[in-house]
Amino acid sequence: MSIGNILSNVRNKPSRHANVLLALLPIPPKMTGAASKDRKQRETNHEILRDLMEEIFEPLASANEHGVKITCGDGNVRLCFPRLAAWIADHMENVTLHGIVQNRCPACEEDVERLGEVVELPAKARDYSEYRRMYYRYIEGDEDAGEELRDLGVKLAPGIFWELSHVVQVDLYKPDILHVIYLGIFQTHLMKWVVGFLKKHKRLDSFDKIWMLLPPYPGFSPPNKEYSRVSQWQGKEMRNLVKVLVPSLAAALRRPNNAERIPFVTALRCVRSIVDFTLMAQYRSHSDETLQYMSDFLDDFHKYKDIFLEFRKDKATARRVREVRKRMAASHTVAQNRLRAEGASTAQRRRAGDDQRRELQDAIEAIYDDELDFNFVKIHLLSHFKDHVHRFGSIGMYSTESGESSHKQMIKEGYRRSNKNDATFQILRAYARIDNFRMHDMNAQCDPGRIHSDVEHPPEELRELGSRVAPSKNSRSSLQFVSRGALGSLPELLVDYYRRSGQRNITAEMANGFHVEEYRLLKVPIRCFQDPTEVTWHLLRCTGQRLWRTSGKARNDWVWVDTGNEELYGALRGCFPARLCAIFKVRNTVNNRVDRLVLVDRLFAESSGKPQDASGLVTVIMTGSVASTMVVSIKRILGMAHLVPESAAQDNKRWYVNNRIDLETFNRVYY
Ligand SMILES: [Zn+2]
Repeated sequence: MSIGNILSNVRNKPSRHANVLLALLPIPPKMTGAASKDRKQRETNHEILRDLMEEIFEPLASANEHGVKITCGDGNVRLCFPRLAAWIADHMENVTLHGIVQNRCPACEEDVERLGEVVELPAKARDYSEYRRMYYRYIEGDEDAGEELRDLGVKLAPGIFWELSHVVQVDLYKPDILHVIYLGIFQTHLMKWVVGFLKKHKRLDSFDKIWMLLPPYPGFSPPNKEYSRVSQWQGKEMRNLVKVLVPSLAAALRRPNNAERIPFVTALRCVRSIVDFTLMAQYRSHSDETLQYMSDFLDDFHKYKDIFLEFRKDKATARRVREVRKRMAASHTVAQNRLRAEGASTAQRRRAGDDQRRELQDAIEAIYDDELDFNFVKIHLLSHFKDHVHRFGSIGMYSTESGESSHKQMIKEGYRRSNKNDATFQILRAYARIDNFRMHDMNAQCDPGRIHSDVEHPPEELRELGSRVAPSKNSRSSLQFVSRGALGSLPELLVDYYRRSGQRNITAEMANGFHVEEYRLLKVPIRCFQDPTEVTWHLLRCTGQRLWRTSGKARNDWVWVDTGNEELYGALRGCFPARLCAIFKVRNTVNNRVDRLVLVDRLFAESSGKPQDASGLVTVIMTGSVASTMVVSIKRILGMAHLVPESAAQDNKRWYVNNRIDLETFNRVYY
């Protein structure tokens, strides 16, 4: 249990102890085989759960009516009326709690047959107090009321929340990004369709190859196995996958032939719109504009999803398709033989063959249209996201993840400490103690006088260099040292930099004499775009040709360089990606100043930064020309860039700019 007016970024951190463990609910053993038809057992399970909940809610019920005196953080005592306002649970838990059948929506009365459709007019919201009245009419012998409840997907049993006053039960349901989108859509469905699609078009192999070449990024660790070899996916891995899915798929589907073009574009659009929806659903604050984007993305997903319809087939459908194929092939052979016997020309026979192929295709599509659909509940639940944000604020506030990650401390830790004998009570008591001590610590350490917002530093001042390279003995640390003789034009590049920064008096000879220190690491702070108090650090590495730890590869990260002119490079908004070549500090003894600089090899945006139509991604190319190498100040480095190679070939020169890697990039690079 938690309190609604705790800030969500506090509540979502298990270490802040904003959730209280109230009870451990018994889980009835899984009912399989004959037991699943045991109605009596089901009823008993439900009754037990209801009785338990009643006991848990009892103190709440009286506080609801008469209020309780609570000492607030400011020292005042207030009379409070706590109300049950939200219940954070996954779909199956919601089904049990709200007493509805499995494939129905807990928030609205949408028909099972229409779950996979675009919601033009939202179905009527569920009215649980009405269900309660109907249920009691049914108990008194009104069969029609029972029939109606059954049609609405409501179980004929008293509901768990019915007797609580001041609770709007339909609003207890909260959308859930982890279980609905990451596990419900991506893991259970979409990735299977995508793999089916890639297999059908023989592109799975190239998808796997690109998958193995994905570069690291803060918050994203590159996969160490081909996609098709991973058998188990967890929530966190799905989160990672969504960040890189669009460019990987775009790379795998590049250069389609004529017949492939339309299906490939459609598949990419479908995947991209659901990825974009997922990212935008995670925004911490919304405007009408972002909400409009969300509903447009969802509409697009529905518009294009039919491309994956055939991959929803089950065994029965697959068998039917096989039978039709076999039957038609036989009759087509007969027809072809007859044509040949009648002395038809090759052209005539070929035309007949084309007709036959089309006929077969139509027959198969008719089967798919008839038997396959997208009517599963998770796809429907997406349609409630936007409305929920409108009414209750950002979706991340009601994350199931924080609850699940506290499980470790709340339950597993307690079990480990118990004597494992009837451990329930020991678990509850162990956590209550941990929780109390921690609360006491937090209170003791609390500093009421502390300033809430951090002092605003311009982020460029916070940038740091690290891992200085020790110069070898007897060598003068100069530009020669940085370039190791490989880049003779470095002094000119430096002079060029000085000219751009208003120091026109420096010549290449002077620059060559300056003292230089080389570094391997550049630390850049990244402000969360919706919460300026939260900063993550990008650690940019540049090891030159040397080995990076034990991976055996040199690591020179991709970075964003800001030109300061937002008008440039279309969707990239005045920034270009570049490869770090060196990080160094120059003591300019002539003008008496120190400059912290990087040497980069820049990439050029294609089509002036206009994203590709299907994938919505900007492509960049490496020209290898002299003009692509330049020296810039570290103040212009915005952070790491995530670039996905277009092909797995060694001499690949073209990359996709992955703007879905994090919300900051997603918000900056778009069209
Ligand atoms: Zn619904």
